[in-house]
Amino acid sequence: MAVKPDIEIAREAQKRPITEIGAKLGIPAEQLLPYGHDKAKVSQAFIAGLEGRKSGRLILVTAINPTPAGEGKTTTTVGLGDGLQRIGRKAAICIREASLGPNFGMKGGAAGGGYAQIVPMEEMNLHFTGDFHAITSAHNLLAAMLDNHIYWGNEHQIDVRRVVWRRVVDMNDRALRQVVTSLGGVANGFPRESGFDITVASEVMAILCLAEDLQDLQRRLGDMIVAYRHDRTPVFARDIDADGAMTVLLRDAMQPNLVQTLEHTPAFVHGGPFANIAHGCNSVIATKTALRLADYVVTEAGFGADLGAEKFFDIKCRKAGLHPDCVVLVATVRALKMNGGLERDELGDENVSAVREGCSNLGRHIQNLKSFGVPVVVAINHFTGDTEAEIDAVRAYVAGQGAEAHLCKHWAEGGAGIEGLATRVAEIADADRAQFAPLYPDQMPLWQKIECVAERIYHAHEVTADQRIHEQLAQWEAQGYGHLPVCMAKTQYSFSTDPGLRGAPEGHVVPVREVRLSAGAGFVVAICGEIMTMPGLPRRPAAEKIRLNDAGEVEGLF
Ligand code: ADP
Ligand code: MG
Repeated sequence: MAVKPDIEIAREAQKRPITEIGAKLGIPAEQLLPYGHDKAKVSQAFIAGLEGRKSGRLILVTAINPTPAGEGKTTTTVGLGDGLQRIGRKAAICIREASLGPNFGMKGGAAGGGYAQIVPMEEMNLHFTGDFHAITSAHNLLAAMLDNHIYWGNEHQIDVRRVVWRRVVDMNDRALRQVVTSLGGVANGFPRESGFDITVASEVMAILCLAEDLQDLQRRLGDMIVAYRHDRTPVFARDIDADGAMTVLLRDAMQPNLVQTLEHTPAFVHGGPFANIAHGCNSVIATKTALRLADYVVTEAGFGADLGAEKFFDIKCRKAGLHPDCVVLVATVRALKMNGGLERDELGDENVSAVREGCSNLGRHIQNLKSFGVPVVVAINHFTGDTEAEIDAVRAYVAGQGAEAHLCKHWAEGGAGIEGLATRVAEIADADRAQFAPLYPDQMPLWQKIECVAERIYHAHEVTADQRIHEQLAQWEAQGYGHLPVCMAKTQYSFSTDPGLRGAPEGHVVPVREVRLSAGAGFVVAICGEIMTMPGLPRRPAAEKIRLNDAGEVEGLF
């Protein structure tokens, strides 16, 4: 059966007015701040009034290591929300907003796919309600104020060679990775090297997604380190007096966005931090709001479970006091075959032994997730080319791991294709079996935290770093940052730091090349391998094919 392109399916959606979607969750119309008829922000005042309400069940959707074959985490998150709604449960979905940059690079959106999509998908993937513009503006306001501070006498004795606050733009633009600012003479300030990151890599984005409320937001913004003085002491955003104005710019962006799926399940789409140098999940405020309004909340973490789920647990859940009830681990036959050594052009033919081989990757993720004390269920996201024998091989392997696998056809059939998984997930969540605990305690030294993740999650044999990195970590501990969790930045394609090493590699070495302190967001980033914070466009960017058709509709986006 041929399924239409995502954008055609999305365009045919019979959307309900957003007030109706809000009403499903008991949000009064006057507490919705509408952006058109199909999107709304939920008011700060309404959210504040929910404090103390009983929390619903939290279900995390994560996946095996990504391959170019595609796994479908967002598609499964949306499908499972629809499935829960279909079996009569009060469900809500929480996912991230889309970054503009990738939309114009590689084809592929952030709203799910097939018959498991969030609408309006073009808007969700493009400007949406302007949150990313607000984050970009707040970030760059701080940059402007910092350079201005230096220009007008540099009262804080900032070492201009040690300004760490860069600028951001929500576009894939490699030309901006490294720039020299303030050229052109005395009136333009002091020339210095700087650069641009993509907006989703901004610490402001991470903060917006971890802050509990506006006060917490402002405190965290003030805590950000922007530069160092000649005596090497840090200069905070608060020292530049930027935290107040930044909070003003972010006030509306802090309110979660409510939209709907093709089947009218409420979906909160809010925030979108990178999953490498940041924690890669939607905002705490959206997740908590959803949990207070729905009985089941399905959410997604970026990349594979080694990065996304680990950070969801060790950063988001730890910091926000969330207690996940069930994890859904998405696997596809195609991605398992790639983990089993096949190349992309070999995926068309049945190959049960490659599936079995690739299951080592799935098995490691199952065991890792169980170690957090949360029940795990495997979702086989069905592609039309998968064969019975291949699917049976996955089921048999998962059963051998002491877990269960469910074949899910939400991409082709919507919520009806995933009722089996939805029923089991609801049962497991209701049984209250989870005994969630983060991987390591707050008081563990920072270096040991890095080793703990590398050894227990990645199965690394050794973690290496230069002496200067050890000294840096010791210095941060002395300054009172030792209690922070670590945010691992490594390739998403492998348990190791080598993207080519698929399956379940053992005994590899994880080199920590650099550490960064995100003092406002509240984590220490350990960079293992090449990490790009400003992507580039491919040779033939998707933007070349994007246009408006005669009816004024967007063509070529997906
Ligand atoms: P992730 O969240 O893991 O990055 P998405 O859910 O965004 O992945 O899906 C990536 C792409 O794969 C989307 O374009 C989606 O339409 C497609 N896709 C997902 N599941 C299926 C499926 N079962 N069959 C065909 N295409 C799928
Ligand atoms: Mg996704």
